[in-house]
Amino acid sequence: MRVRTVCLGKTGIEVPQNAFGALPIQRISTEDAVSLLRKAYEGGMRFFDTARAYSDSEEKVGKAFEGMRDKVFIASKTMASDSEKFVKDLDTSLKNLKTDYLDIYQLHCAPKCFNEEDGIYQSLLEAKRQGKVRHIGITAHKIGVAEEIVASGLYETLQFPFSYLASDRDIELVRSCKDHGMGFIAMKGLSGGLLNNSRACMAFMSLFDALPIWGIQRQSELDEWLSFFEKETEMTDELRAVIEKDRKELLGEFCRGCGYCMPCAADITINQCARMSQMIRRAPSENWLTDHWQKEMMKIENCIGCGVCKTRCPYELDIPALLKKNLKDYKEILAGKEI
Ligand code: SF4
Ligand code: SF4
Repeated sequence: MRVRTVCLGKTGIEVPQNAFGALPIQRISTEDAVSLLRKAYEGGMRFFDTARAYSDSEEKVGKAFEGMRDKVFIASKTMASDSEKFVKDLDTSLKNLKTDYLDIYQLHCAPKCFNEEDGIYQSLLEAKRQGKVRHIGITAHKIGVAEEIVASGLYETLQFPFSYLASDRDIELVRSCKDHGMGFIAMKGLSGGLLNNSRACMAFMSLFDALPIWGIQRQSELDEWLSFFEKETEMTDELRAVIEKDRKELLGEFCRGCGYCMPCAADITINQCARMSQMIRRAPSENWLTDHWQKEMMKIENCIGCGVCKTRCPYELDIPALLKKNLKDYKEILAGKEI
């Protein structure tokens, strides 16, 4: 089976189960981003997810698809918490994306399920009435909030982290979305870079009505995802074994590398240092043993325990403790421990 088509619930949006997450294109030039996005389209991708919060990502997407708006589906997001900011953000998104409508506009990283009593939800409805937004969606990182959103029946799509490290509860959430006629958009399909077997990731997604938006920044990454338009994506025993092995290694409290906890008062690069033990065992370890990373890891000793990072982590990780654990392991590796 090659890449299958998924339908995002009652929105009627039907696209290949292989979509483009436009967060990382912030880090490359406009010229490179436009070229990458066009190649993604030419290679078969039809769904592109960006956000007001991704600096110039929307502008790059807008430039790439100018004159062919009806050929692609574009979703964006706002972090606005009041109506005035919402209207301003939406107008900016439309201008940046060079369009007069968005296929999906999502409330970004919702701390709760906004409902009819919240001005921000009314703003979404109004934008839909005006035709500026075709469908309304929401993104969340906490499972309890996500479950409440699905049960509310107020949104057409939910975006939530989903990879083959998913818990039974996460899997139930995806099924529940389907039962409620909601589209499920899967972010962090590689779990923030921890997973590196793209075939296993793709095969896992093929088991669900989930639309993965792979964060893409390089041509090589794009080529890898586009290759699934030509090759098998079916789950096999061999891939099941890969997933089983990774789940054994990685399950539990782990940092997804999202960076929401930063900046840190002690200038610690939390989104890398809090998962060093995993990264060093999964990527060529010498990349993480350079002078640069040794200095970054040693900054953990300067943690003042202010706890601000903990209040920002959507996964409610005990970050200072996790950092200390990673530093201990890192020092042992530097001293010669086998990895
Ligand atoms: S508790 Fe430590 S790691 Fe967290 S923000 Fe404060 S100084 Fe940084
Ligand atoms: S500690 Fe939490 S907020 Fe910070 S990068 Fe990791 S998962 Fe994200």
